[in-house]
Amino acid sequence: MKVLVLNSGSSSQKCRLYQVAPGAPLDPPPALWRAEIEWAATDSSASLRIENASGVRYNERIEAKTRAAAVERMLRGLWEGAAPAVRAPSEIQAVGHRIVHGGAEFRAPALIDERVLQAIARHAEIAPLHNRSEIEGVRLVEKFIGAVPQVAVFDTAFHRTLPRPATVYPGPYAWLDEGIERYGFHGINHRYCAERAERMLGKNSADLRVVTCHLGNGCSLAAVHGGHSVDTTMGFTPLEGLMMGTRSGSVDPGILIHLARKHGYTPDDLDRILNRESGLLGLSGVSSDLREVLAAARQGHSRAQLAFDVFLHRLRAGIGWMLASLGGLDALVFTAGIGENSSDVRAGACEPFAFLGLRLDPVKNADPAGDADIAMADSSIRVLVIRAQEDWAIARECRRLLESSAG
Ligand code: ADP
Repeated sequence: MKVLVLNSGSSSQKCRLYQVAPGAPLDPPPALWRAEIEWAATDSSASLRIENASGVRYNERIEAKTRAAAVERMLRGLWEGAAPAVRAPSEIQAVGHRIVHGGAEFRAPALIDERVLQAIARHAEIAPLHNRSEIEGVRLVEKFIGAVPQVAVFDTAFHRTLPRPATVYPGPYAWLDEGIERYGFHGINHRYCAERAERMLGKNSADLRVVTCHLGNGCSLAAVHGGHSVDTTMGFTPLEGLMMGTRSGSVDPGILIHLARKHGYTPDDLDRILNRESGLLGLSGVSSDLREVLAAARQGHSRAQLAFDVFLHRLRAGIGWMLASLGGLDALVFTAGIGENSSDVRAGACEPFAFLGLRLDPVKNADPAGDADIAMADSSIRVLVIRAQEDWAIARECRRLLESSAG
């Protein structure tokens, strides 16, 4: 089955086409086609990159007055232009969409119809940047690809198994009636990594206790027991928890009250400060990109060093939190841009857990080849590096849902 995956970010749009075999195997095959749009921060132009399975690729700057115009251009590249992957849109048999917020309703992927779209629109109040562009993506597929089954795969769904004490905020009880509770995010990749860890360790999932560390521009941890998420660091929005590229993560809410009183900050001001001007960028003043922060720290930039130290402190504290929710640990998994590539972060995150018998192999940590176990043979806890495969995970979920609804 040819499955197209649309993955919308706030300033990017990724798209992949996969051939998904029956049973939707866990290991990703190479994509048949990949495309990515990145919007320029300053004007209405965007860069579009497209590559097909024969290795034909091109990169063009496009005028994109609206997001929809750019996405249309990208979709047409599937069957037109220099690097097509199909002869006609009708060859695409299903489309999977990454939906950031599925609220309390969705515990699993859903076949998209008007009711599902309305529910996704309701959650746009909490995740406006994402959910609205995802709905637009569904409409564009209807328009340009036609009547193909479309599936919503939710970043929140994996965490719907969290026990009540882990989801309820200790605010007034009325918050619960308003849907103000902890949802958690990055669930598509946390789930994929937990399944992959189980496969790599060759263990039965029923008792396996794993902490998955998704460390990219956004960062979150999940505590996974027997294949189910039992705790996570992000909450009502993707702002809670760890320090991130430009997001603060958790801060004392009293700070917000203080700032609003002292400087008259509006909700939009606080949104900008906490989501875009904090984290690695805010503290270091150098960049939101950890590579640049680390390079500056090595040259003696004290704010860059502070940003890295706080990042690690928060990460270790988060792992400790997940450990308490699991009551033990078989494997610690590192994934996404920072988790896969930064040996400094992995070593720093593992260090305080040496007292539990966790022993990282410094040679393997320095250069893990693909998905790898980087703990010493006698370590009491395995440490795994697993490449994030969000788009493949969406394509699999899509086929699984369509297979089960057909069966
Ligand atoms: P997103 O969450 O947008 O998908 P990624 O998963 O690509 O982001 O992660 C981006 C982060 O990964 C950036 O902070 C970047 O600095 C970091 N990163 C990528 N490669 C390295 C590296 N070799 N060392 C340290 N950090 C890296």
